[in-house]
Amino acid sequence: MKKSIREIDLNNKKVIIRVDFNVPIKDGIILDDNRIIASLKTINYAIKNGAKVILMSHLGRIKEEKDKDKNTLKPVSIRLSVLLGKPVLFINKTRGEELENAINNLKSGEVLLMENTRFEDLEGKKESLNDSELGRYWASLGDIFINDAFGTSHRSHASNVGISKFLPSGMGFLIEEELSNFDVLENPKRPYTVILGGAKVKDKIGVIENLAKKCDYLLIGGGMAYTFLSSLGYNVGASLLDKNSIEFCKNMLEQYKDKIVLPVDSTTSKVLDGDIELKNNDEFKDDDIGLDIGSNTIDKFKEILKKSETIVWNGPLGYFELEKYSDGTKQILDTLSKEKKIVIIGGGDTASAAINFGYKDKFTHISTGGGASLELLEGKTLPGIDVIDDK
Ligand code: AMP
Repeated sequence: MKKSIREIDLNNKKVIIRVDFNVPIKDGIILDDNRIIASLKTINYAIKNGAKVILMSHLGRIKEEKDKDKNTLKPVSIRLSVLLGKPVLFINKTRGEELENAINNLKSGEVLLMENTRFEDLEGKKESLNDSELGRYWASLGDIFINDAFGTSHRSHASNVGISKFLPSGMGFLIEEELSNFDVLENPKRPYTVILGGAKVKDKIGVIENLAKKCDYLLIGGGMAYTFLSSLGYNVGASLLDKNSIEFCKNMLEQYKDKIVLPVDSTTSKVLDGDIELKNNDEFKDDDIGLDIGSNTIDKFKEILKKSETIVWNGPLGYFELEKYSDGTKQILDTLSKEKKIVIIGGGDTASAAINFGYKDKFTHISTGGGASLELLEGKTLPGIDVIDDK
């Protein structure tokens, strides 16, 4: 078990908290502040417990000097200050005297946010390649390191893995909550059903291999279903097809034929913005594109979900960004929201769909990390968490 922030004395200590403030910003306006809100519990706890709070986060990608302007954390500091109801001192540096002095002048309960850690990527990708000098330098700025950036914990960067090697460390509430929710899947109440969707089989091979053996049902929808259908000999027309994964799909279907449930029909179109037509698997013409699971598939999935007790879902069941292909994803969200089941929604697109379609508080857990939750489902340990001190 990893140490939690609750088990560390923060009083009067310089506490560096790695948060995930990687929010969408356009022309200086924050379009979605969910990630900032998600970090408040840990920050408020640190303030209340007398810490001198030093926040660090990445934002976007920094490849050239001009990327800095649109990826400064300054707007985040303003929003954070409103959400916390207290001043946040923003230092537009990632190192140097100004930053060091500001940190050394912090009083207990005060909050400082330093500039985007990826500004250090301009010369030699120091942050993203976990440059050990950089990790050591950032560690020298504080007494304690708390990692609460679940969304980046599958990456090995200087601001999570590098820094924690040189300081006593613990996890924040967000990471703790994410881990305890995914932990439920280690010993799930059965029947245990996995729903997988999204674009490519290739990206989900690890998850399929790991979960197929653990679950009772594996429902497959979205673009990736067509590679499975193709491996059974169906003509999938112009639907998404991952040719290199056909053999893998065939093997999985043979190995887990009683668990894997594929779509029986699809909402199709000839072009993305064209007329839609419901087609069974054997009715596809060469120019048909399957863009959502069809109504019979939705019914079939619902029937299994109603008798399931634990459900984990990663990947939308159709091209949900367009209303006319969002029905499968919406109807399954709706069904799950009405059942008293343990429902874990993976991060990324599935989480955005759940939140945007109005189901934010309807499930056991909606993960805040796309890549990180996918790697947990693959059964991997996340380097940003692995490196945190054990209890
Ligand atoms: P992923 O990141 O692999 O979970 O993929 C998510 C993306 O898959 C979303 O942008 C969806 O629009 C897309 N997607 C889901 N189903 C389909 C489909 N049938 N055809 C094309 N794209 C799809």
